[in-house]
Amino acid sequence: MSLPQITARIDAACAKADRSPAEVTLIAVSKVQPPERVEAVLAAGHRSFGENRVQEAQGKWPAWLDAFRGTELHLLGPLQSNKVRAAMDLFHAIHSIDRPKIARRIADIAQETGDCPALFLQVNTGEEDQKAGIPPREADAFIRDVRAMDLPIAGLMCIPPADETPSLHFALLAKIAARNGVAGLSMGMSADFEQAIALGATHIRVGSAIFGDRVAA
Ligand SMILES: *Cc1c(COP(=O)(O)O)cnc(C)c1O
Repeated sequence: MSLPQITARIDAACAKADRSPAEVTLIAVSKVQPPERVEAVLAAGHRSFGENRVQEAQGKWPAWLDAFRGTELHLLGPLQSNKVRAAMDLFHAIHSIDRPKIARRIADIAQETGDCPALFLQVNTGEEDQKAGIPPREADAFIRDVRAMDLPIAGLMCIPPADETPSLHFALLAKIAARNGVAGLSMGMSADFEQAIALGATHIRVGSAIFGDRVAA
């Protein structure tokens, strides 16, 4: 599927939900894609991209960020504390904050540099052992703790279990955000972004539907 086709589907989903497409940022997830596919999307004028690993992004993005001004890079994958500074240097948003230790480290570096990416807290809505994110019942307290560190929270993020109805998870994330006054919702991928838009997504993360299947890393 091409970028214009995805954009058309986003527009249609927004119209159906009585929302403006301007409220929905399409993050093109470029992890492990061949560079020529990413360059084609950059050349077409798209300016929001997502990556899963700090190190992989460090290898390819500095040159592209320089060549394609106004490009925003989102970190979607888990973040280790020894990579926080590198991540804050390169990324405009981090979607995977799920531990006080990482938030503390971000707060310390932000104090020092006066600069902070947009922060999304990841909620493990399916409470899956193998998945990152805070359990839903701990979300309110974690949001409070992060705010107490003087860090603004841009939004919440979730990755629903592969074998469950995604809408239930999107609705749960939206509910947690609403009761905490959090504006952003990073939810919806290639297979379910229209449902996510219907439930209030502000950031959808679409990889294979734009770039084709990921070539094995
Ligand atoms: C890979 C990935 C995506 C994109 O997945 P697709 O199914 O290819 O659209 C979105 N979010 C996260 C966190 C990912 O790791």
